[in-house]
Amino acid sequence: QSTSLTLLGLGAMGTALAHAWLAAGHPLTVWNRTAARAEPLAARGASVAATAAEAVAANRLVVLCLLDDDSVGETLDGVDLTGKDVVNLTTGTPGQSRALAQRAADRGARLLDGGIMAVPPMIGVANSGGYVFYSGSRSLFDTHSRVLAVPTATRYVGEDPGHAALYDVALLSAMTGMFAGVSHAFALIRGEDIPPKDFAHLLAGWLTAMASSVYGMAGQLESGDYTTGVASNLAMQVAGSATLLRTAEEQGVSPELLSPYMALMERRVAEGHGDEGGAGIVDLLTRR
Ligand code: NDP
Repeated sequence: QSTSLTLLGLGAMGTALAHAWLAAGHPLTVWNRTAARAEPLAARGASVAATAAEAVAANRLVVLCLLDDDSVGETLDGVDLTGKDVVNLTTGTPGQSRALAQRAADRGARLLDGGIMAVPPMIGVANSGGYVFYSGSRSLFDTHSRVLAVPTATRYVGEDPGHAALYDVALLSAMTGMFAGVSHAFALIRGEDIPPKDFAHLLAGWLTAMASSVYGMAGQLESGDYTTGVASNLAMQVAGSATLLRTAEEQGVSPELLSPYMALMERRVAEGHGDEGGAGIVDLLTRR
């Protein structure tokens, strides 16, 4: 028999999750602050609860997919969580996830935190490449692993309830840096006789080829030896920065996205580490 579950939050992501569970035949109770968003799901067989408390009471497994940590706090305020298996798919910080796990434990519930590495169109689609990081209660994950795997693939990353959020945010942060570089690249070619779509093809290929450099940096961080086997050391990269900055100037492009990273590389070289790879930058950034 299919596990029944409750879902709180029917935004773009929550709605996609709801459709996936309904399509797989799981009895689903939903609640959303703005009730009208539940109507299409009711038409597909979901039970619509009038309040969050009523929705939570309906099932042992309760999934939250709300805007942010504050909305989770507001929604669960005063709701009886005794004996519940709470899965929080709301994006937050590691600290917020750890605090929520503690609050859940204080109220008699187990908590599993999730970080969704997918966008709504990937949900419910087999082999989409998307997945959810999970951390926190291993026993909760084991109990519900099949129903949790319905919307997209799952990756359990340990008992620390903050780790799913940490992995999620670490990957999103790397992506942010990539988008910064991509924005700068498109700015450089703008106004030239270079079709952006042709250029995009080259850009995607180059970023894909460069992606494997993360393993080299990981090896340096693990061994503590930042110099052996480095293909492009910091001294060479700092020398090259001048060309990147001058090209930006020639093309009339602001260097503001590149400059902060270049400043860090320069600082590391000035401190006598020009023969290192990028791992030294991690040292400069780490305050603990
Ligand atoms: P939406 O903005 O589409 O929906 C937000 C949801 O939160 C709505 O159901 C909204 O209710 C509810 N909400 C907001 N504030 C409150 C509150 N104070 N009390 C109760 N409910 C509240 O967001 P998404 O569905 O896209 O995202 C949900 C979560 O999933 C977020 O944490 C997001 O980071 C994460 N996520 C989203 C991805 C995406 O691509 N969309 C990708 C990966 C993760 P109402 O309808 O009443 O406004």
